[in-house]
Amino acid sequence: MKIYNTLTGRKEEFVPLVPGKVGMYVCGPTVYNFIHIGNARPMIVFDTVRRYMEYKGYDVNYVSNFTDVDDKIIKKANEEGVEPEVISERYIGECKKDMKGMNVKEATVHPRATNEIDGMLEMISTLIEKGHAYVAKDGTVYFRTRSFKEYGKLSHKNLDDLQGGMRSLLISGEDQKEDPLDFVLWKPKKEGEPYWESPWCEGRPGWHIECSVMSKRYLGDEIDIHAGGEDLIFPHHENEIAQSEAANGKTFARYWMHNAFLNIDNKKMSKSAGNFFTVREISEKYDLQVLRFFMLSAHYRSPLNFSASLMESAANGYDRIVTCVKNLNFLAEKAQGGLSEEEKAALDEAKKFVAEFEAAMDDDFNTADAITAIFELVRFANTKASGVSSAAFLKALKEEIVTLCDICGLIVEREDEILDEDIEKLIKERQEARAAKNFARADEIRSILQNKGIILEDTREGVKWTKV
Ligand code: AMP
Ligand code: ZN
Repeated sequence: MKIYNTLTGRKEEFVPLVPGKVGMYVCGPTVYNFIHIGNARPMIVFDTVRRYMEYKGYDVNYVSNFTDVDDKIIKKANEEGVEPEVISERYIGECKKDMKGMNVKEATVHPRATNEIDGMLEMISTLIEKGHAYVAKDGTVYFRTRSFKEYGKLSHKNLDDLQGGMRSLLISGEDQKEDPLDFVLWKPKKEGEPYWESPWCEGRPGWHIECSVMSKRYLGDEIDIHAGGEDLIFPHHENEIAQSEAANGKTFARYWMHNAFLNIDNKKMSKSAGNFFTVREISEKYDLQVLRFFMLSAHYRSPLNFSASLMESAANGYDRIVTCVKNLNFLAEKAQGGLSEEEKAALDEAKKFVAEFEAAMDDDFNTADAITAIFELVRFANTKASGVSSAAFLKALKEEIVTLCDICGLIVEREDEILDEDIEKLIKERQEARAAKNFARADEIRSILQNKGIILEDTREGVKWTKV
């Protein structure tokens, strides 16, 4: 399996640190609003990477954070007159609903920055002790960028070029820095902001430190893959490398993966320009499986353009697979018997599409070509399956299609939809189970509903449910 590594600028054979295991960290969203379709791209792409690795037999430890302390969250909290955690809690919940709709698996761990402050204080202290960070007069702690000799190795930037670009910062009042390249690890609180005690000042962390700390805590000093959108290469990931490697004295991540951006109608997504969609808005018009299909129809390192007509063709493509699966199921219901010699030979022939699929995925997760292989398999199934096929043959073809789609996280076969009245009945039973302290049954009901895409929310006014 080959992965394009931003660090080396080459496709490299993937060799995990521990055979059979993968430790992977994906930078997650800042939770101050519904996620937009740009945020959905890394979620879908790296979930597919994870699924393919699991298919290959790797045990994947997948960590993805929620940034829940940030200027935008604080601003929104002040506008609504609530605490910042009310905002972050709300949008973590909404993000999880969207993830469910897009069939993005829950991470092994979804750490939140505000739960990891102790680890941040520890790493910042280590950096100060080792001479890689210093405390300014007002208590701000800065990373001493030039103390990390390899700074710039990920973004392939030269320190002196960077210095030129950053001179304006000195003029803008950040003159307590030793060097304009230095970046914030910890900063003093401002009026009306959440803050934590620290040895340097009451304050809050800079943005980059959280990922270094969470990655270390849940995956160890060295990890296999670190990923995110390409806008994170500089400065976020460059700074993460500097912090982690300076503090731990070890290589931080071996493979760095970055998805290209999603644009709308060939323009950068921008709220003010009006070309901006949340995943929730898209879900009102399309099945989110179509969004997933659309995202995977391009290679993750190619820019992707979102438009109504491209979504229509994604919907057609996705439907072609769903229709084939439905048709195979329909024929299989009436069919009987085992495989004929001819059918055995046809199934052997179908293996070549699986091989094509795997070859595409092994080549830096080329989902565009992998989907083409699925289409070829669908076309093959459509020509080979008929009213005289055996049940075993139809089932085997269907399984092959469903398996490949499942690796892409595409749901092409749904269990029968649950009726609203059945949902209400189960919720009532859950309430009774809880009142009788039968929490096992209550949890069981929650997960039965969850598997059918129904999310429960316990509110003061009672239980609310939503379909994703
Ligand atoms: P943020 O909440 O801005 O930190 O973004 C969360 C993730 O979404 C990061 O990995 C970003 O790189 C990624 N991201 C944000 N906007 C886009 C976009 N338009 N296209 C692709 N990825 C994006
Ligand atoms: Zn990060």
